[in-house]
Amino acid sequence: MTLKSVDSLPSGVVAPDYDVASVRPGIVHFGVGNFFRAHEAFYVEQVLKDDPNWAIIGVGLTAGERSERKAAQYKAQNCFYSLTETAPSGDSKVRVIGCLRDYLLAPDSPEAVLERLSDPATRIVSMTITEGGYNIDESTGEFDLTNDAVQQDLKTPERPSTIFGYVVEALRRRRDAGHKAFTIMSADNLRHNGTVARKAFLGYAKARDAELASWVEANATFPNGMVDRITPTVSSAVIEKLNKASGLEDDLPLVAEDFHQWVLEDSFADGRPPLEKAGVQFVDDVTDYEHVKIRMLNASHIMLSFPATLMGYENIDQALADEDLRRNVEAFLNKDVIPTLHAPPGVTLEGYRDSVISRFSNPAMADQILRIASDGSSKVQVFWTETVRQALERKTDVSRIAFGIAAYLEMLRTVPDHSEPTFKAKQKELASAEDYESALKLPSFDAWRDLDTTELNAKVIELRKVIREKGVRAAIPA
Ligand code: NAD
Repeated sequence: MTLKSVDSLPSGVVAPDYDVASVRPGIVHFGVGNFFRAHEAFYVEQVLKDDPNWAIIGVGLTAGERSERKAAQYKAQNCFYSLTETAPSGDSKVRVIGCLRDYLLAPDSPEAVLERLSDPATRIVSMTITEGGYNIDESTGEFDLTNDAVQQDLKTPERPSTIFGYVVEALRRRRDAGHKAFTIMSADNLRHNGTVARKAFLGYAKARDAELASWVEANATFPNGMVDRITPTVSSAVIEKLNKASGLEDDLPLVAEDFHQWVLEDSFADGRPPLEKAGVQFVDDVTDYEHVKIRMLNASHIMLSFPATLMGYENIDQALADEDLRRNVEAFLNKDVIPTLHAPPGVTLEGYRDSVISRFSNPAMADQILRIASDGSSKVQVFWTETVRQALERKTDVSRIAFGIAAYLEMLRTVPDHSEPTFKAKQKELASAEDYESALKLPSFDAWRDLDTTELNAKVIELRKVIREKGVRAAIPA
């Protein structure tokens, strides 16, 4: 049965526990990707029975055939989709998510998006637009006003195309109409994602109109949040497998691990859903939680995936089953990360490490290494900087970090052209990665360039030579 309604779902599939027809939208979300569908939507789904005013309208910003197809699929399914949560033990649970109540493709209906954003019922604008989506210049740390699309939006601010243009134009309309501002909530995997979003949206607003920017600064809020749930890309083979198991005919199913976490600052401009009822932890300061997540989980994810890509592994559980890669990632966590990390209340770093390793080994995720390794130039900075700086400052052994960087650069250089758009956008990096010395000048490594990198850089070059001459395994630190 095609997934058009939630009235008669196959047995074992959990239906929404509220009346889908009577919920009202209060959130607009940009970037309706897999992670949003398995994380934010999953949390909101659980609290609509308590407060029906927080249903979500999804917005896609990218034009093109793929986006059109996706939008058509959402419409055809009344925006319902199924989420399969799978534990490392293999136990699964399927639920149909109903909180996404419409999907707008901005290039097709820009005015509908602006109207929705300007409607006072919209009280939160959230986003998962990837780490690189905030248009922050890696060398200055500021919003990049030279970006072509941003320049175009600044020329025609009432006909925007970027998320910055849409959000700021909507805030202008709200101010002029005497409405409140909304909360701008990033759910991307960035340290202090709210602060980054603030910098990006205010950077654009200031360039557009200083007075408007002051109003936004005084009235909008940008909560920081630590988000966590491994959510793999869904191939057509996975779609088939999920539908066979659930009994649904869903064109948009997805799978995620059973683990999920969201630690969020309680700083909302105009109310929020009662997310604590679904397990969201509200705290005054997310810093320590972010550090643990980013420096342990995300950092070891890329520490595994860069060499694993070169070794031809496809999924992260396969990479972890390789004894050399596993030993390296465990040594990285034990020797480079844990001794320089502060645990937030209720978290033990050794326990967190064990849970990360167990989550990575979940075969049901079949989590693609290419997904994890993509957009490496942003990820290296976000996930590794603190650990690299600590090692350089404390003058501890840099061999594991050097190996990670060497594997990253060799991957950039040798991974064949594939469909990852982020790789295609990195032509300059690809060209520089060829040469040992110029590769070390890439912006990805700017964040520790002020420290003495002589030994680290020499080691990176040495290990790149070993990888080229003898293969990756020979370069893995003992
Ligand atoms: P995805 O490819 O399924 O979705 C990404 C979405 O972002 C797409 O809808 C895309 O159109 C949109 N997008 C990309 N660049 C954009 C831009 N510049 N402006 C506007 N929209 C843009 O990927 P995903 O798995 O959903 O991951 C998205 C983000 O979620 C990650 O970059 C990360 O920050 C965060 N995250 C993902 C996971 C995970 O396991 N997948 C876990 C934690 C956090």
